Amino acid sequence: MKCPSCGKSLNPRAVRCTGCGTRLIRPSDKLARKMTAGRGLSLACGGLLVWLAVFLFFNDAMLFGTITAVAGAALLFLGKTMNRR
Ligand SMILES: [Zn+2]
Repeated sequence: MKCPSCGKSLNPRAVRCTGCGTRLIRPSDKLARKMTAGRGLSLACGGLLVWLAVFLFFNDAMLFGTITAVAGAALLFLGKTMNRR
């Protein structure tokens, strides 16, 4: 691979450019970080929706509660299955 700022040829496993010191970000790293962020977000939203569903059930909003519970469970499931290789 080549350094994006100075063009020096580098070891593909290098973390920093040996010529100019630029920190190198590989596409796979970016993707992994994005996946982790997405997973955390869907888990957080799923958890929030499940709590909202419980709240709705206690307020006799069964239909909205059911929809919210299903959506929350789907998000939690999505977050748990994500990041598995
Ligand atoms: Zn460089």
